[in-house]
Amino acid sequence: MRKNIVAGNWKMNLDYEQGLSLFSEIVNMVKDEVVGNQEVVVCSPAIHLSSLAKLSTAKVAVGAQNIHQAASGAYTGEISASQVKSVGASYVILGHSERRAYFGETDALLAEKVDAALAHGLKPIFCIGETKEERESGEFFAVIKTQLEQGLFHLSADAFQAVVLAYEPVWAIGTGLTATPAQAQDVHAFIRQTLVEKYGQEIAENTTILYGGSCNPSNANELFSQTDIDGGLIGGASLKSRDFLEIVKVFNSK
Ligand code: PEP
Repeated sequence: MRKNIVAGNWKMNLDYEQGLSLFSEIVNMVKDEVVGNQEVVVCSPAIHLSSLAKLSTAKVAVGAQNIHQAASGAYTGEISASQVKSVGASYVILGHSERRAYFGETDALLAEKVDAALAHGLKPIFCIGETKEERESGEFFAVIKTQLEQGLFHLSADAFQAVVLAYEPVWAIGTGLTATPAQAQDVHAFIRQTLVEKYGQEIAENTTILYGGSCNPSNANELFSQTDIDGGLIGGASLKSRDFLEIVKVFNSK
């Protein structure tokens, strides 16, 4: 049975005290809301990870927003998978559209980062999604398939099982525009079918596929009630504890 996950992406927001205080609030608020096969993940700036991990629980994990692909070495300013793991984080977001757009991250590079994460026991939250132009031209299914093939499909079936996917239409991230529940479900079903073809029915059914893109307490309900949407990757709304809690609650009633 696949896991349901609500993950927050704090991006480059919150200083140390603000991060600690928001995380403590989240741990406290969600403790009675997260049950069974459900998990909350907070992906913070790397500088907070060590402190947040000390406060993390079986229900609220922490994750990074990026790692370098190399195990160690002369890469000034970078952070490795083993360093992230060593401070107690268990997830890492890879392939976020902001990293693809502003830092030139390609599918080939992301495939290396996925390997680095898995080699050190970090679970990738691997983001895929089309731009506005790709949506409008109708080529979005092909774009998403290529991102899956080039970023992930070198993995064995065994290795793939640690991966969480996040469908994030680029045009919906931080814009206030959200995919309609039907648009999101169509793509999630397409992703799952693509996984069936590559890894078989069982693995496809067990893979968690999150939706991300301007999710908030008002639209979460309809999105999360779709069959193939197993949770959310939440940007802006994860910075407000009440909104984040509302989303977790909606999701957990699925
Ligand atoms: C994100 O950055 O992954 C995201 C989904 O952001 P927002 O919720 O702000 O659109």
